[in-house]
Amino acid sequence: MSLTSGMEWAPPGVDTATPSIARVHDALLGGTENFAVDRAVARRLKDAVPEVVNLLWCNRAFIGRVVDFLVREAGVRQLVDLGSGLPTIENTHDVAQFADPSVRVVYVDIDPMVEPHARALLGGDARVAAITADVRDVDAVLGHPELVRRIDFSRPVGLLAVGLLHLLPDRDDPHGLVRQYMDVFAPGSHLAASTMLATPGPGANPKATALEAMLQATMGTGYFRSREEITRFFAGLEPVEPGIVHLPEWRPDERLPGPLDTWEELLLGGVARKR
Ligand code: SAM
Repeated sequence: MSLTSGMEWAPPGVDTATPSIARVHDALLGGTENFAVDRAVARRLKDAVPEVVNLLWCNRAFIGRVVDFLVREAGVRQLVDLGSGLPTIENTHDVAQFADPSVRVVYVDIDPMVEPHARALLGGDARVAAITADVRDVDAVLGHPELVRRIDFSRPVGLLAVGLLHLLPDRDDPHGLVRQYMDVFAPGSHLAASTMLATPGPGANPKATALEAMLQATMGTGYFRSREEITRFFAGLEPVEPGIVHLPEWRPDERLPGPLDTWEELLLGGVARKR
C-alpha cells in the first residue's frame, strides 16, 4: 500500500503544506508519494515547459546507463547516490545489482519521505541503505553509521550527484562540496553528475530560462550553470568518454535518431575518474 494513498498519511517530520523537490519530482514522474501542494508545483512546471516530464525520464535513463557503466566497465562495487530522490522504477541499486548482485548502494536525501519509502522498498536488503542527510554536511554524510557500514573507503566508490547540483546555490560552494567527497574516496573512484545548463545571451534556450524562473518562483531554488561551470565540477578528474555532454549523447543505447530537441539540451552530464 502506498504510504500516501487515501488519507495522505505522512511520515513524522514531513511538512505536507510546503512543496518539496523530492515530492514534486515524484509527482512529475507519475509517483504516488506526493501531496496536493507538490502536484500544484508540478503543474506549474509543466505549464512553463511541457517537456519537463520527458526531461526527468531522460535523466533517469542517464542514471541507468551511468550505473551500468560504473559496475560493468569501471569495476565499481559501491555507490553513493546524493540527492537520490524518492524511489522510482529502475533505481540505482536495481541497475547496479542487475549487473552484479554484490554491489552496495547508499542513497542520501534531505527529504524525510525518502528513507522510509526506500526502506519499505528494499525489504531488508543489507547491501543497500537510505539515509536522511544534507549533502552539504559532508562529515555527517560520510560519517553516517549506515554509510560507514557499507562503504569501504579504501576501495573505489561511484559518487552520483544526478539532478542535484542545480539545487545548490554558489553560496553553498557545490564545486567545493563535490571535491570534498572525491578527496575522501580512493583512486579509481568516479563522479557521475548531471545538472541544468544555462545558456545566456543571444542563443539562449528559452526553455531553460522558463524552467529556472519557475523553479525559483515555486521552490525558491534553481541555479542553472554554464558549460564551463559544469565542467568545473569534474576538475582534477580524468574524463570518461564522451565527456560532459547533453544527456542523450552520453553513451546512448541506440544511435540517436537526429538532432536533439531544445528540451534535450537542458541537462548536461558526464562521468570522470579519480586517478
Ligand atoms: N537523483 C534523482 C534523479 O536524478 O532522478 C532525484 C533528483 S531530484 C530533482 C533532487 C533531489 O535532491 C530531491 O530528492 C531533493 O530532496 C534532494 N536534495 C536537494 N537538496 C539536497 C541536499 N542539500 N541534501 C540532500 N538532498 C538534497
